Amino acid sequence: VFAAVQELAPGISERDCIAEFAGLRAAIDGDDFLIGPSTKRGFFNVAGIQSPGLTAAPAIADLVVEMLRDEGLAFTPKGNFVAANPKAIHFAALSTEEQIALAAHDRRYGRIVCRCELVTEGEVADAIDRGAATLDGIKFRTRAGMGRCQGGFCTERCMRLLANKLDISFPDVTKRGGNSWLVTEHSTSNHTYLRPGSDTDDMEDAFL
Ligand SMILES: Cc1cc2nc3c(=O)[nH]c(=O)nc-3n(C[C@H](O)[C@H](O)[C@H](O)COP(=O)(O)OP(=O)(O)OC[C@H]3O[C@@H](n4cnc5c(N)ncnc54)[C@H](O)[C@@H]3O)c2cc1C
Repeated sequence: VFAAVQELAPGISERDCIAEFAGLRAAIDGDDFLIGPSTKRGFFNVAGIQSPGLTAAPAIADLVVEMLRDEGLAFTPKGNFVAANPKAIHFAALSTEEQIALAAHDRRYGRIVCRCELVTEGEVADAIDRGAATLDGIKFRTRAGMGRCQGGFCTERCMRLLANKLDISFPDVTKRGGNSWLVTEHSTSNHTYLRPGSDTDDMEDAFL
């Protein structure tokens, strides 16, 4: 893979790599997506969705709704459907003046949890309030851990915030649920974990 990358960008060095990822593509024969009713009535294929499947997802959803409607499926709107979630604060995207004002209003936005992506404690806390219960849940919602150091510094901070906010023990925090623990040793001893925002908290007070 790297040889092919170097053909495209000869200046790139292996030392520039900070993390490597691999993904599975659910490929099928042919170049196009397979979308539509199958021979079994009521069973629809939405398969072989290779790149740019993510970009195409909203359009695919609209198409499938139309197909299902054509097949005679009646759609009843849900009373509790939330059409648009309130937009979360993305601290890094604010102007310096807005950042300073926000941090002055709520000190949690003055404490940087992830330096690489400039993610604040306030954003992590908000992500947990919106349902994040794992390290990846925080990462997907806030970008904490996605930067240059790949979570080298913020992993422990995010884990601490999760443990405190969800009232679980530090070792029970997982990367993405199940048994994906981040620390191997489970102890029943009485560890004291710092409350985020406490005076002894070592998070960086970047603005205040
Ligand atoms: C490395 C990589 C980079 C990409 N970059 C882009 C990009 O930049 N832009 C873009 O538009 N697209 C991109 N894509 C493609 C995009 O990610 C896919 O097209 C899209 O995710 C397909 O969506 P899907 O819902 O069909 O399948 P998936 O997203 O694969 O979802 C399938 C889900 O089914 C679950 N599952 C599988 N088997 C079972 C089972 N037996 N029981 C229960 N659950 C099961 C899986 O865990 C998964 O959550 C990329 C893909 C890869 C791999």
